[in-house]
Amino acid sequence: MDIFIPDMYQKSIYTIDYEKLKERGIKCLLFDLDNTLIPARSSKKNEKLKDFFDELKQYGFKIYIFSNSPKRRVSIFADDLGIEYCYSASKPLKKKFLKIVDDNDLDLSEVAIIGDQLLTDVLGGNRVGITTILINPISIKDGVQTLLNRTIEKYIIKKLTKKDLFVKGRYYE
Ligand SMILES: [Mg+2]
Repeated sequence: MDIFIPDMYQKSIYTIDYEKLKERGIKCLLFDLDNTLIPARSSKKNEKLKDFFDELKQYGFKIYIFSNSPKRRVSIFADDLGIEYCYSASKPLKKKFLKIVDDNDLDLSEVAIIGDQLLTDVLGGNRVGITTILINPISIKDGVQTLLNRTIEKYIIKKLTKKDLFVKGRYYE
């Protein structure tokens, strides 16, 4: 069960202390797309997000959108935001995580994944050994491919909560 526990848990991408991440040696941030940056069923562009990434780039992080969604969905947002991306990432499989680590000559301790799902973002990141940051999903509506994951996630959270290992809404960093 420990493999599902995120290293950090925050309300949203906007409440994460990126300065602190930098101090901890994080150089590369992988952002999940659906329900992390935008609602899962939305295709609207977002000015707030653009400002956010413009500011974040100034911290000197290497930034990717790291999504299981197909290229046609991921590229629209990534191109608009002017950041690199990895589509069809197949989280929680390790392969694409490790490709980014290798391509950028990074150490696992220098990479963090930020996402809204225990079964893809957190599990994948923990398997690889990078820092995992869970945030609450933006929307209660999920993509079709996520519905089963959420059912399993609820069960896992219930188990973790019973052992006081992870409690929804109890944020930490
Ligand atoms: Mg997501």
